[in-house]
Amino acid sequence: MAPGGVLEPGSVALVGGGPGAADLLTVRALRLLEQADAVYYDRLAPTDELTGWAPRARLVDVGKRPGHHRVPQDEINRLIVTSALAGLRVVRLKGGDPFVFGRGSEEAQACRDAGVPVSVVPGITSAVAVPAAAGIPVTARGLSTSFTVITGHDPLGESALAGLAQLGGTAVVLMGVGTLGHTASGLIRHGMAPDTPVGLVERGCTPEQRVCIAPLEQIQLAAAVAGLASPAVLVIGEVVRLAPGAEQHLRDLVRGA
Ligand code: SAH
Repeated sequence: MAPGGVLEPGSVALVGGGPGAADLLTVRALRLLEQADAVYYDRLAPTDELTGWAPRARLVDVGKRPGHHRVPQDEINRLIVTSALAGLRVVRLKGGDPFVFGRGSEEAQACRDAGVPVSVVPGITSAVAVPAAAGIPVTARGLSTSFTVITGHDPLGESALAGLAQLGGTAVVLMGVGTLGHTASGLIRHGMAPDTPVGLVERGCTPEQRVCIAPLEQIQLAAAVAGLASPAVLVIGEVVRLAPGAEQHLRDLVRGA
């Protein structure tokens, strides 16, 4: 078996579960789940088939919903450490990649502080996969040579807004639904063109995926009309035009159709 595919008793694996579709889990993640005695999983991790993937494990939902922190982070850290110290093989299954806004580094540090061996298994991050599921590439020759991934959990500050507006590449905002209006108006205020195309992709890579495309100046209204909610990935930049049907849709919106 490949290095990293073994879960020793008394150790923790921080495993990226990908953006939500069961078949976007990695082979290594599956191998570790098979061996697990305990699995602590998040709301955004793929969980429909978890009983089959981790047949020996006790499954614990520590998922957090926006506004309702069901299990505080300190408590999650304590749970995984205590389970490992009790000799269990522990998988901490997280949505996307563990080190992209997943507080994975805090969990890894908590393990190291307690002397618990910890490994990290990367996952497919929603920052790239969710735009792709809507047909939006984060980079494209001639349109965008960079992408910036930023959290919209708290309203973006003036310097972040100014930086994104001047950068010229693609901006990908996670946890950005609640602050969408602030982000859009802030970027325009800092010089980004009001007709810059924006895509908002709700529940990407799942059967419930919905996509809303509109110019920056209209995205908040368009998202509200469509009733789009978290979890969603916001993509801002010329690459959004490459989504199937986007050009036509943007032209219709401008004409008020
Ligand atoms: N570690 C994760 C991100 C955690 S932050 C990763 O690498 O993907 C949680 C945010 O990720 C959500 O608020 C949303 O912006 C985004 N997200 C995760 N899965 C998603 C999905 N299937 N569809 C849309 N957005 C998703």
